[in-house]
Amino acid sequence: MLKGKTALITGASKGIGRAIALDMAKNGANIALNYIGEPNEAELVRRLILDENVHCAIYKCDISDFNASKKMVDDVLRDFSQVDVLVNNAGIARDNPILRISEKDYDDVMDVNLKGSFNMIKHLYPAFMKSRTGTIINIASVCGLRGWQWQASYAASKGGLISLTKTVAKELAGRGVTCNAIAPGLIETDMTAGLNGDNKSDFVASIPLSRAGQPSDVSKLAVFLASDWASYITGEVIKVDGGLCI
Ligand code: NAP
Repeated sequence: MLKGKTALITGASKGIGRAIALDMAKNGANIALNYIGEPNEAELVRRLILDENVHCAIYKCDISDFNASKKMVDDVLRDFSQVDVLVNNAGIARDNPILRISEKDYDDVMDVNLKGSFNMIKHLYPAFMKSRTGTIINIASVCGLRGWQWQASYAASKGGLISLTKTVAKELAGRGVTCNAIAPGLIETDMTAGLNGDNKSDFVASIPLSRAGQPSDVSKLAVFLASDWASYITGEVIKVDGGLCI
């Protein structure tokens, strides 16, 4: 579905980003793989991707850093000549009631989840305008649609990302570039590993499909949105939540 395309995926060393990178590679895409802190994990993903007979290179970069993310985009464009698919997946959470959220935690979450995605879009914007094709996929969250207690900064960042998605979709439509968001519910990754015992059972019980999602539940949709099959879809927010937010 993605033969000949190049995808730049942030936070692809584990979890949902890893699954998206592997599924896109399986479907023929070359992968520019970003991570920040775990080189061994990133290298493992790179080796699995190379088994699919596509190109893959790793880029260590903190996407919340405006200048560092510009350099990464320049490096990727130099190495791959173009980027057809940008997946803004990297994200962090610092859950707490509002009374206990520190200024630093609030800023960190906004800086990675919202500003980091903005940085990537801004730096790739000229290349997308020039090539007059491409797609951007932002990994948001159902928290950004509904709000969620103890996740004020996270929910606000994802709500902002959804607004950013719609704005970019409008701005770049005239250039043939699409931009959509995926809003996962509860997906089993390191990010949600702290949720266990009764808390997790209660949460899962509230999901109509009666199970937590897997990273592959999200990556399959990302492959579809990156493919030509989705070329008339833009500005959408698609939930992958087992019916949690029906
Ligand atoms: P995860 O397993 O914790 O993976 C997060 C990834 O982001 C890692 O690869 C990490 O790199 C990278 N990352 C973190 N900060 C970064 C930064 N400043 N610059 C570059 N990369 C950075 O999380 P996940 O559950 O897969 O989440 C992926 C996305 O899905 C996030 O945007 C999250 O908000 C969203 N989401 C997740 C769920 C869920 O239930 N899991 C639900 C809704 C939405 P290192 O490994 O190198 O540290």
